[in-house]
Amino acid sequence: MITDPTQNRVDEMTAESANTHRSAGSSRKSKNVQSKSNQKFNVDRERIERAVREILIAVGEDPDREGLLETPARVARMYSEVFSGLHTDPRIHLKRVFTENYDEIVLVRDIEFHSMCEHHLLPFSGRAHVGYLPNGKVVGLSKLARVVDEVARRPQVQERMTETIANMIEQDLGARGVAVMIESTHSCMTMRGIRKAGASCTTSAMRGVFRENLSSRAEILGLIMNQSR
Ligand SMILES: [Zn+2]
Repeated sequence: MITDPTQNRVDEMTAESANTHRSAGSSRKSKNVQSKSNQKFNVDRERIERAVREILIAVGEDPDREGLLETPARVARMYSEVFSGLHTDPRIHLKRVFTENYDEIVLVRDIEFHSMCEHHLLPFSGRAHVGYLPNGKVVGLSKLARVVDEVARRPQVQERMTETIANMIEQDLGARGVAVMIESTHSCMTMRGIRKAGASCTTSAMRGVFRENLSSRAEILGLIMNQSR
């Protein structure tokens, strides 16, 4: 099954049917997975505002000129939004699983995401492809896109983001195999440093059969790549 993450209807339907035979998601945790509690954390926007004002002064700007007056507050609001994934647990979206005897690959391609490179605090964005081979448990399709979205809303490096998503799906769904591929362009490469416009970065994380079995790996890579673009 290959699908588009925008097909939210599918997920709503499966979410409803999940009510009847819902089973608890695995509570296994892994230390190398980014996982945060859902404790309420209030982003200190005033502190961000002060810091942004300092940056403007440091680069030789006048933070009191008209065009910049609201900038610190705007940046503070933006940061609380783009880093909101620090205070959510994406695994919540993998808790509502349902039993299904479907044992073929499930692949959601072209999940658009936007993240922030933790080295430069500049955006990188692109598309994620998330596939898994179920082991009796499947999850609503749009939930995979939600996981990608929330993991992206943290200071990130693409490699860790790829692994984090793969580990969550492997552990929480108990999938027999997981394949995550992310293609993105990094502003820190295109607007500064080596300035390679259009250079894209691809990372992948394979788990279970997609890691161990060459033909399974070839199959999922074919599904991801052949229909890419
Ligand atoms: Zn960077």
